[in-house]
Amino acid sequence: MADPERVLQHGDVLVVVDVQVDFCPGGALPIERGDEVVPVLNRWIATAVRTGVPVYPSRDWHPNRHVSFIGFGGPWPPHCLQDSEGARFHPDLRLPDSTVIVTKGVRLDRDQYSAFDETGLAAELRARGVKRVWVGGLAQDVCVRATALDARREGFETMLIVDGTRPVTQAGGEAANEEMRRAGVRFETTR
Ligand SMILES: [Zn+2]
Repeated sequence: MADPERVLQHGDVLVVVDVQVDFCPGGALPIERGDEVVPVLNRWIATAVRTGVPVYPSRDWHPNRHVSFIGFGGPWPPHCLQDSEGARFHPDLRLPDSTVIVTKGVRLDRDQYSAFDETGLAAELRARGVKRVWVGGLAQDVCVRATALDARREGFETMLIVDGTRPVTQAGGEAANEEMRRAGVRFETTR
């Protein structure tokens, strides 16, 4: 169990993955109880702001006819279309004004699940002296998984906020947990 007040420290970063309207109940690609991550992550965000830990929210930001969409070569229903309501962050997510948004999923030729995938985020975090990455958001078995695995690959100590994420499917979530565990990701539940 981790109390954000006690564990967040200088050298940490909080990466909030794709907490967008379309991934929450009522959205275009809803994740069951996806909205329940919002109050959990708000606590982490508030503590991060107070302690000077940077917060990087990522967002899926697809062009029309994206290759990840059914009918255009991908597995997903259309979601998070650029500038659409569904692409907005969940209205209750309380991001600081100073936040820098990591935009992904904009490529025309392939999808980008990870917040590190050709976004420059790893270089940015290294430049800011980040050693440890806390990850939460949606979905645990897709973009959170890819982001956490990339964070490890980039050499960061990586912490998954277990109660701050939800999977598309239970089985997918369990497989993703196993993969992340093997990659050295650590799991913490908010106290
Ligand atoms: Zn997407």
